Amino acid sequence: MGTTVDAAFIRRAVELADLNAVRVALFQHTGDPELAALPVAASLDDAGRELLIDKAVAWLETNAGPGMPDEPPETELRALMNMATAEEMPDLEFEARRELPGFNAFPWTADWTGEKPELPEGFLVAVIGSGFSGIAMGVQLELLGIPYVVLDRRAEPGGTWTVNRYPDVRVDTISITYEYSFEKNYPWSEYFGRGAEVREYLDHVSNKYGVREHTRFERDLKRASFDEMRDVWVLEVESPDGLEIIEANAIVNAVGTFANPKLPHFEGQESFTGPMIHPSRWPEDFDATGKRIAIIGNGSTGVQLLAPVAAEADQVFVFQRTPQWIAPRDKYGQAVEPEIRWLQDNFPGYWNWWRYMAIAALFGTHGYLIPDEDWKAQGGHFNPMNDKLRATLTAYIEAQTNGDEDLMSQLVPDYAPFSRRPVVDNGWYRALTSDNVELVTDGIARLTPTGVETVDGQVFDVDMIVTATGFDIIKYLWPADYVGRDGLSVHDFWSTDGPRAYLSMMAPSFPNMFMLYGPNSQPVSGGTGLPIWYVLWSAYSAQCLVRMIEEGKSRVEVKMEAFERYNTALDEESQKLLLLRDEGAPDKNYYVNEFGRMQVNAPWYGPEYQRMCSRPDWDDIDLT
Ligand code: NAP
Repeated sequence: MGTTVDAAFIRRAVELADLNAVRVALFQHTGDPELAALPVAASLDDAGRELLIDKAVAWLETNAGPGMPDEPPETELRALMNMATAEEMPDLEFEARRELPGFNAFPWTADWTGEKPELPEGFLVAVIGSGFSGIAMGVQLELLGIPYVVLDRRAEPGGTWTVNRYPDVRVDTISITYEYSFEKNYPWSEYFGRGAEVREYLDHVSNKYGVREHTRFERDLKRASFDEMRDVWVLEVESPDGLEIIEANAIVNAVGTFANPKLPHFEGQESFTGPMIHPSRWPEDFDATGKRIAIIGNGSTGVQLLAPVAAEADQVFVFQRTPQWIAPRDKYGQAVEPEIRWLQDNFPGYWNWWRYMAIAALFGTHGYLIPDEDWKAQGGHFNPMNDKLRATLTAYIEAQTNGDEDLMSQLVPDYAPFSRRPVVDNGWYRALTSDNVELVTDGIARLTPTGVETVDGQVFDVDMIVTATGFDIIKYLWPADYVGRDGLSVHDFWSTDGPRAYLSMMAPSFPNMFMLYGPNSQPVSGGTGLPIWYVLWSAYSAQCLVRMIEEGKSRVEVKMEAFERYNTALDEESQKLLLLRDEGAPDKNYYVNEFGRMQVNAPWYGPEYQRMCSRPDWDDIDLT
């Protein structure tokens, strides 16, 4: 068997596993028609479950060992994917999803069309930021053999994961979907990796693929200007040794959306004598023991940090301006069992299909966002799928608060789930039922020297205030300035209605400049997990550079007409979605900027958006 585990261990492993993944991986090895005839795991009866487990245990007892199957031929792959979700997948979806099981070494990455051409002398790409997307771009450039430098203002790779170090910071999508598809089977210690482990992971990837040796830390880009005579970007970079000038043929911005904290300004703020802490500036020596603490905000951050802070603090006041839909996640906070780790290492294909199934859970999410007018006319809130989720989440709040009617009346939102970014529960509702935690829903009127005063005149005396008030998404690429053709500053270009881009990646007047996780980039639905998108955006940018180099050109720039056409269509599409409708909460949604435009999300159905981002439409792009 090639391992030292016994049959009972194997059985426990299979029982703990994702049975859909077990079924498909086993079928891939055996072609056993009985497996194909079984329904998906959620519909398995006891006999079917036993049959599947018995077959898997028997197979593993004789065949377990390391390895990964080759990608099956297309027809077989498609049949396996259809079997996994019990759905016939149309071509659009198949094309978007075929690399999700991760059988190939470097899914989605771009390559030269033939032999690698000779590069212009001194050719260099500057990647700004060494977080998830900057590292993905580095790997892409490594694969192409294009010289590059990654600049990061911080001292280590990891981007947002180095910035956010507050208690219990961790991913809120299961780690098997929050990893690169080219780095297979990473040994996460928990199902939802903690911040420190995500940092270690990014450090590992950056080292393994050679990106780290091209990364220059403590390099803060202040200004970049495009020299139209030479078609190069001139970067002014602050370093520990003073100002450095770097010239690059192209810039890839991988600076993230959540770079600038949004700090609130309350009347009397300066008079408060204790510390005010934004979670992205969490002090290393933070100690809540015996303290009275105000936490302002109940987005993903405020929700994630309440329970651990409340466990130590004397008293916590949670200031909630708008209730959120906060949902539980299966296996959140749990260690990956040794049995599952063993299965990942010794059941070839299990990792691939587990990953596929974990992502498949998001395939249908677009359905939450589209209203059903007939349903509403019959008294429904939004559409049947969304209303069902609303009922489930309402029941969850009720269970977590032990049916406390007073709390329920303050906690259940009056807008539809999925109007805003879903928030994952880290024991937030439960913490509100603790004796030392109080929910405050009256608005904040002002800060006093000793605490927070609400509009009804109540004063909450505290030692410190945590402002989990989010990030300033309107300040994209800020505070650096980018000056493109004709002396145009990107911030002037965006001053009338906020940051915009073509396909989230390019802007006219800014040749040879790409953005990863740029304006309107995050797929609103039909998700495949963000790390896949970091690779897709990198590959798109790389395809533009490849064509520019292969054709001996020095400039690649989106046409103004294409940029405007794309954004008009994007605004029209956005209007159809819950996020901008009255049933949502558009005025209280960081996805929507102060100009009333959706700014973080791409409104398109995920596979359609992926199609757009997979291959450049060369008619939209000037190459000169
Ligand atoms: P956020 O979602 O923008 O939430 C900010 C919170 O602060 C909201 O509750 C907001 O209330 C409140 N707030 C803002 N200004 C206020 C004011 N002046 N007075 C009172 N309340 C105020 O920010 P976030 O929680 O930092 O999350 C941002 C994003 O970061 C997330 O959506 C996610 O994409 C990412 N994130 C991810 C993870 C993870 O994956 N583990 C963890 C944390 C964050 P309103 O609702 O009324 O606006």
